[in-house]
Amino acid sequence: MRLVFLGPPGAGKGTQARTLAAEQGIPHIATGDMLREAAASGTRFGIEAKSYMDQGALVPDEVVVGLVAERLGREDAKKGVILDGFPRTVAQAEALERLLKDLDLVLDRVIFFEVSERELLRRLTGRRVCRRCGTTYHLAFSPPRSLQRCDRCEGELYQRADDSEATVRRRLEVYAAQTAPLLDYYRSRGLLISLAGEGSPDAIADAVRRAAASG
Ligand code: ADP
Ligand code: ADP
Ligand code: ZN
Repeated sequence: MRLVFLGPPGAGKGTQARTLAAEQGIPHIATGDMLREAAASGTRFGIEAKSYMDQGALVPDEVVVGLVAERLGREDAKKGVILDGFPRTVAQAEALERLLKDLDLVLDRVIFFEVSERELLRRLTGRRVCRRCGTTYHLAFSPPRSLQRCDRCEGELYQRADDSEATVRRRLEVYAAQTAPLLDYYRSRGLLISLAGEGSPDAIADAVRRAAASG
């Protein structure tokens, strides 16, 4: 099973990808998580990536494609992957097509999560993330038992710098301009499945399982 999870920031891609990847025993490849790890490590590469992320802009295609190429080439990615937050531009989608072809692999489905802008704003400004295990919470919709600590691992919860309202608005603009064109790109290839991204995470997970298995 090789899937792309597509949707605006806050659509629930990460939440759903974590669930399905664990169920299927396949890697969850989230470029945002990889870039944040690089930024936290303080390398020159990470610091440069962070300067784009903090502004709500996209990191240059060749940088992200390089990360994904390395990750897809590893042994555990052979049996399947969920790509979350990649591709985000048509150039990245084209690069992905080439990468998979070189590895003799095919993309099975692109699952698009449809969520209203109002809901996205609410979700992103209330998002909290565990620094240790990456579990994502929401202050109102899926609150942690304690405000500061992760329910699963006791790690520290934090608010992403780019989840401030001003940066969220910028990210939504970037999504509309640079990522939304991927809907037509994948529709024309017969790979796109859209699903309603609003409702309980469990109900959405059911819809995702059906979409992933359909065909
Ligand atoms: P969200 O969960 O809100 O959709 P991500 O964690 O996927 O956000 O991404 C956070 C930031 O990391 C993006 O705003 C962008 O700066 C950078 N980023 C992540 N994936 C990509 C990508 N495929 N191409 C370019 N930049 C990316
Ligand atoms: P993305 O990876 O697409 O940016 P996330 O999975 O990080 O999105 O979800 C964004 C925020 O919305 C998080 O705070 C998460 O807890 C919350 N969230 C995820 N799914 C739902 C849902 N179905 N209903 C309400 N809130 C949700
Ligand atoms: Zn945790």
